[in-house]
Amino acid sequence: MSLVFDHVSYRYPGSTQGLHGISFEVGSGELVAVIGPSGSGKSTLLKLVAGLETGYSGRIALAGQDMAGTPVHQRGIGMVFQSYALFPHLSVQDNVAYGLALRKQPVAQRRTRARELLEVVGLIDHAERAVTQLSGGQQQRVALARALAIDPRALLLDEPLSALDASVRGHLRDQIRALQQRFGATTLLVTHDQEEALTMADRVAVLKEGRLLQMATPRELYERPAQRAVAEFVGLSTLLTGKVAAPGRVDVGFAQLATPTGSRPVGQAVHVLVRPEHVQADPAPGAPNRLEGRPGAARYLGAMTRYDFEVAGAPRPFLAEGRRSATTAIAIAPESIRLLDD
Ligand code: ADP
Repeated sequence: MSLVFDHVSYRYPGSTQGLHGISFEVGSGELVAVIGPSGSGKSTLLKLVAGLETGYSGRIALAGQDMAGTPVHQRGIGMVFQSYALFPHLSVQDNVAYGLALRKQPVAQRRTRARELLEVVGLIDHAERAVTQLSGGQQQRVALARALAIDPRALLLDEPLSALDASVRGHLRDQIRALQQRFGATTLLVTHDQEEALTMADRVAVLKEGRLLQMATPRELYERPAQRAVAEFVGLSTLLTGKVAAPGRVDVGFAQLATPTGSRPVGQAVHVLVRPEHVQADPAPGAPNRLEGRPGAARYLGAMTRYDFEVAGAPRPFLAEGRRSATTAIAIAPESIRLLDD
């Protein structure tokens, strides 16, 4: 049941916007999150799979079947949208059974299946209610039950949590992930929320301007972004530009930082990525990459404080986090610094 994109390009009629040469695979039972800035092509990708836009080049195949020649209703796709897209005049149960009715399943069978799914999403007690009486989070669970009821070959989730309150979102995120795994559903999740992507997905595809920048596990993406644009989009960081001053040393203008430079020649331009959790507060006097300065803006986050630390001459403050802010100096362990070439 894998979903394969092979050199998929698409251009909106009369526009240069769309997708350019997208190739990746969502493995059977895998959840791949697609993230990227607004307008990067995330929804377009989903629309092509669902058949809502046509006329792309390249190949999209689901379970080995080319989607190009497959009518929308025969694609076997379950979809969940940001806007729930439920039928307000139908009961909860009839909403869940809707896809089965379209497939002309006998009434009794539909009812059993719909109730099974409502049990799974914890809404069996609401089966007979009007769907409009449910909260946003409950409605989204109905939408998920409806999508799963048809035993989809792929599940497409388009910003499924964006319309919900933060308090509901965390719980539903876990529930969607648990159900996706339980059903072994091959899933493509589009989200602008990188935290959602990192916590839910097996792998994450990062799009920008219709191109795939990187496809990796959440950990790889965070720890080894392939390029600056990925680092900027995934997780918080301080990004500097510099050049290799000597093996193991990078000149960032206001300081020379010790860090492994690998096989990069002296003089090569690099981007220097420092994650906040690698900034150490008030280090010992001789610590490597010790930088003196003063704390700037601080944001209290309960378990920790995230703060800026201003170093004289630096183009921007270092973003740091910890139980308390550094007062006069920070240090960055050499091996925690990532160098990116582009
Ligand atoms: P995302 O979901 O990442 O925000 P979209 O896939 O919606 O991005 O859009 C990708 C690009 O295509 C954007 O530049 C957007 O303006 C453009 N686009 C989207 N829909 C249309 C359309 N119907 N006609 C023309 N251009 C479109």
